[in-house]
Amino acid sequence: MKIAVAKEIEVCERRVSLIPDIVAKLVKQGLEIYVESGAGDKTYFTNADYEAAGAKIISDVATLWSEADILLKVSPPQDREDGRSEIDLLKPGSVLISFLNPLGNPVIAQKLANRQITALSMELIPRTTRAQSMDALSSQASLAGYKTVLLAAAALPKYFPMLTTAAGTIAPAKVFIMGAGVAGLQAIATARRLGAVVEAFDIRPAVKEEVQSLGAKFIEVKLEEDTVAAGGYAKEISEDSKKRTQQLVATHVKNSDVVITTAQVPGRKAPILVTEEMVRAMKPGSVIVDLAAEQGGNCACTAPGKDIVWNGVTIIGPINLPSSMPVHASQLYAKNITSLMQLLIKDKALQINFGDDIVDAACITHGVEIRNQRIKEALQTATV
Ligand code: NAD
Repeated sequence: MKIAVAKEIEVCERRVSLIPDIVAKLVKQGLEIYVESGAGDKTYFTNADYEAAGAKIISDVATLWSEADILLKVSPPQDREDGRSEIDLLKPGSVLISFLNPLGNPVIAQKLANRQITALSMELIPRTTRAQSMDALSSQASLAGYKTVLLAAAALPKYFPMLTTAAGTIAPAKVFIMGAGVAGLQAIATARRLGAVVEAFDIRPAVKEEVQSLGAKFIEVKLEEDTVAAGGYAKEISEDSKKRTQQLVATHVKNSDVVITTAQVPGRKAPILVTEEMVRAMKPGSVIVDLAAEQGGNCACTAPGKDIVWNGVTIIGPINLPSSMPVHASQLYAKNITSLMQLLIKDKALQINFGDDIVDAACITHGVEIRNQRIKEALQTATV
């Protein structure tokens, strides 16, 4: 059975789906690993590193894709500069494992089904204890949460920690983190390590203890609706609740030096938590880093992919932050994807078992079938 590692072609993608250390372990298990020439270049792994780990380097893209029984990627397949579609390069009946963003871009599922690909979406790995080692959303969100604080600290015209010096005392920076999921919690921990005073807010009351255990103050809002959906994710809240939360957080935004927003609702546009009015009330020189920029942003003034200054406030809207730390991002992703792959391989042969809840949840297409009801519904309103 041939397992192939594709070179990523998305412009801002620097990660790679397998790293040499993990290739060596798979080769030891008797699996054949094929790596596209240059796949590890942006992660500082050379073809020679992969060869030393036991992989074969393939220069011809069409050969790599069309001969793979399992093709591994980080970013969703897309059209190549030479006009060929990556999906059309796949062998019918083969397996693709990658981030696929099927709820944001359901058309991809239709294309994969048309090509009879068994596609597993890394975004749809359930957030359960057994699936923890495969949870790429968490591994990558944690990197993003860390990096977001570094971006904020670099852009802030102040120190983060409190300092008592011969030239006087410096007050610590005040950091407000909105959304305390995986990225938000890592952001809290990182900002605390840098010495900031940290407050955090989330509509899921369950995170209160986690926030406090990291040394931050939890800003609580009591809403009259259930805010938690299946899988522990947040629900989209009513307009009334949105107004109440905005009123509650306005003063905290105003008094902060740094606001970091990470709030997301799967499959939906990110909720607006910081309005124009709130940004206008912030002190000049303050910084907002909007980790939800890719999903439209949590701040009304965010320009996705850009750093802007709005009314004296620096607003950073990073895209694909994990890719800015490609070495560890790839190391963790490679572990996640390999753990998932182990569920699909028995005695060196492919065995897709839909009785396994993880395979069942992650597999979006099999043969010509789209297997996920939410994707089917999203497809009805999408343009194919
Ligand atoms: P996410 O990226 O979907 O969202 C980030 C945070 O934004 C969440 O905490 C969410 O509650 C919050 N949010 C959404 N709308 C908001 C709003 N209007 N105002 C304020 N905050 C808002 O979240 P995630 O980091 O992917 O985590 C999702 C869930 O999965 C969490 O319950 C997390 O604890 C759980 N999880 C479980 C496991 C596991 O058990 N193996 C692993 C990772 C995550």
